[in-house]
Amino acid sequence: MKIITVDASKKYDILVGSGILEDAGTIIKEAAGGQKVCIVTDDIVETLYADRLGKSLTQSGYGGHLVKFVIPNGEASKNGEQFLSLLNFLSTSKLSRTDVVVALGGGVVGDLAGYAAASYMRGIKFVQIPTTLLSAVDSSVGGKTAINLAAGKNLAGAFYQPDVVICDISLLSSLSDEVYKDGCAEVIKHGAIADKSLFDSLKTPINTQYEDIIAQNIIIKRDIVARDEFEKGDRKLLNFGHTVGHAIEQLSGYKISHGHAVGMGMAIETRAANKLGFCDEACLTDMLNMLKLYKLPTTVQYTVKTLAEACISDKKSDGGIISLVFPSVFGKCFIKYIPVNELENVIRLGVD
Ligand code: NAD
Repeated sequence: MKIITVDASKKYDILVGSGILEDAGTIIKEAAGGQKVCIVTDDIVETLYADRLGKSLTQSGYGGHLVKFVIPNGEASKNGEQFLSLLNFLSTSKLSRTDVVVALGGGVVGDLAGYAAASYMRGIKFVQIPTTLLSAVDSSVGGKTAINLAAGKNLAGAFYQPDVVICDISLLSSLSDEVYKDGCAEVIKHGAIADKSLFDSLKTPINTQYEDIIAQNIIIKRDIVARDEFEKGDRKLLNFGHTVGHAIEQLSGYKISHGHAVGMGMAIETRAANKLGFCDEACLTDMLNMLKLYKLPTTVQYTVKTLAEACISDKKSDGGIISLVFPSVFGKCFIKYIPVNELENVIRLGVD
């Protein structure tokens, strides 16, 4: 098992290993304490893993005080209605500020449960048990929590660090190909922004080297978050592919999943970077080949104008300026601030 310590506004451990769900009760008791636990999960993950988690929690003394809140799986559940229902559920279940919300699931469950944990009584104990590759390498690390609003992704949320993250890689064996590929997109992103050797190692399938790859990704994100927890500067690098990606997700009515949309976003942002002279042809070819290796899409069906408008309604546009992340060489990206009225031209370079 690997233990990675995050030293942000809260200091906590991320545990990565195989079979550690069985020890979750003990780990949570030690890291978060409390008397009661609310497991937040979705209807797919519930049938797969909630009983095993419940058993472990019961053995650690939470037995008589265990409740469960189950949402329909999928991005559509990351909304205000589920958020309020969860807050009401926590209050009718009489959880106090020292009790614990445990997110058992992918990024949707983690983002929703985390925001509820941040809001309920102005902050309750919070534990993440990621069950997708994406949530293991990205969404469970760094403390961003959110729900979507009608105008766009993640428009309401909070920075709220968990008390511990328990990443049991054996849970990833039940992922569908499409959900696995979503996580691969975020792993490719981390390689592209911070670590050429990680990027190169992805030529061997990620699922044959989960423990090492997940730990490497967590460390990359942990180090960026340590420098800039509240996204004033460097943390924006993690948005590589996301400015355009979020727009694609939203335009598809969330039928295109987050990881696939980020893959398309990285392809568009890298093509634009190449045409603007920020990165060379080899960098562009490496990126497109890697996305294709993981069977992630590199083109979009939306018009340039529609994409630009959707990007501008996303939260990354600030006072007429929008930030985009471009690669310079592989393993290195930089943040460029551009006026929103130039965005359409930049996207055109990436789409054509
Ligand atoms: P998800 O949570 O919707 O999970 C995808 C699907 O996989 C769901 O149908 C789920 O039921 C199923 N699933 C989960 N675990 C499974 C398992 N072990 N076996 C079988 N099926 C399983 O999607 P995701 O890709 O994990 O997360 C995407 C979300 O994460 C988006 O909302 C995105 O905005 C968010 N995100 C947040 C951050 C952050 O920093 N907070 C970072 C990146 C992405």
